Amino acid sequence: MSKVRVRFAPSPTGALHIGGVRTALYNYLFARHNGGEFLLRIEDTDSQRFVPGAEEYIIESLKWCGIKVDEGVGVGGPHAPYRQSERKDIYLKYALQLVESGNAYYAFDTAEELNALRSACEAKGETFSYDAKSRGSLKNSLSLPAEEVKRRIDAGDQWVIRFKMPENENVEMDDIIRGHITINTSTLDDKVLYKSADALPTYHLANIVDDHLMEISHVIRGEEWLPSLPLHFLLYRAFGWTDSQPLFAHLPLLLKPQGQGKLSKRDGDKFGFPVFPLEWHAPDGEVSMGYRESGYLPQAFVNMLALLGWNPGTEQEIFSMEELCEQFSLEKVSKSGARFNAEKAKWFNAQYMRAASDEFLAGLLLPQLKEAGIDTTAERAADAVAIIKERATFPKDLLDLTIYMFRAPESYDEKSVNKFWKEENVAYMRELREIVADLEVFEKESAEHIVREWIEAGQLPMGKIMNCLRIAIMGIGQGPDIFSICEFIGKEETLRRIDAALAKIQTA
Ligand code: GLU
Repeated sequence: MSKVRVRFAPSPTGALHIGGVRTALYNYLFARHNGGEFLLRIEDTDSQRFVPGAEEYIIESLKWCGIKVDEGVGVGGPHAPYRQSERKDIYLKYALQLVESGNAYYAFDTAEELNALRSACEAKGETFSYDAKSRGSLKNSLSLPAEEVKRRIDAGDQWVIRFKMPENENVEMDDIIRGHITINTSTLDDKVLYKSADALPTYHLANIVDDHLMEISHVIRGEEWLPSLPLHFLLYRAFGWTDSQPLFAHLPLLLKPQGQGKLSKRDGDKFGFPVFPLEWHAPDGEVSMGYRESGYLPQAFVNMLALLGWNPGTEQEIFSMEELCEQFSLEKVSKSGARFNAEKAKWFNAQYMRAASDEFLAGLLLPQLKEAGIDTTAERAADAVAIIKERATFPKDLLDLTIYMFRAPESYDEKSVNKFWKEENVAYMRELREIVADLEVFEKESAEHIVREWIEAGQLPMGKIMNCLRIAIMGIGQGPDIFSICEFIGKEETLRRIDAALAKIQTA
């Protein structure tokens, strides 16, 4: 295999949907796995669909995910520029080459004329198609006399160059994921390749020319591009580039959580989960939520996305980027659509939260504590998160889970109080208070040991006593290991909180 060179070639038409991020990710993983290069090319030849800010958004999204671009927009490289609008001058030559070789032709039909034809067909219940059947009766260099064609071009009439789709030919194609595909050209139309009006190529021409010039070895892209594949194969043939043509892999769709239909940009708002990596502020003012702003760690997001369509063939679910690079292969990408699962996305985040270092999580917690009016050190915050990190799904959970470690409860959960703060249990709390007061060394293991011995010796109700202790210390009846929390707040504060609870809470 020649050097692996793959590209992510988004059009800056809006925020990058997570399906697009997955395409970028699979390209990146494939490049890394094969010691190849990953390119970023911006396909912005459709000026009508251009959205300001979209390119920056794409670049920032890739950065956030840890997908490093080797060559391309923002990085440079031997084939610069990588933004198609800056490569405008390259494409006409190639379009003309196809006209000369008889694979393409000039067409002069105006937008109005074509619209009228479309409407006329619709009225008859038919669909208009500019193709082998209709081209002979339309205004183009195949139907008009040569002098007329020349006269129109010289006079500055607007024209487009269309691909001359061969008639009734079976195009035989191979796709790494979908296998062998045969399509008959009778179902295909004569696509526009170049427009004189803005001196710009369309997607098809620019895409093929650039993949060729940039020596792309594999085209890995979404399934929505599969219908364009026959045209792309035929373009390679028409240019005489078949020998160096890239291999193709069309990725399965990302499906809605219910499994029916493509996961759309609207589904996020509808079902309450993000479909964009980062928050997106559309030019019209609409704001869509992002994974980053919703508290997802980029590693969790990438891990979740990697498994939406790729199956390692083992039980392993947690993968670092390095492991993904090591194990990824296109052969293990499934043909069928991958159903998005918002709960699973949360599960991944929780896994990465619990695996994160205490110092990292402390960094997330500290500003939240500050906002809540609590001033503490990074060390204290790290000790606090160490106790509760298994219970956090998102960074924002950290505050709720640790606040009582920094501040005595101001109120006590009514339900827990009603259930446990009974006269007999309160009597045990008084005894427990004295045991705590007598402890010389106040640390988790020894305190727990002594308390347990007392409970066992008297055959006391362990659960109830522990729940009352929790109520006194945290204000609620459940939570992480209570002895860890007592150790964290210290002996004096533990006693203070027990005393306060004994004084303030009425027995149920
Ligand atoms: N510009 C196309 C897009 O927006 C690229 C498709 C391809 O990868 O060929 O997805």
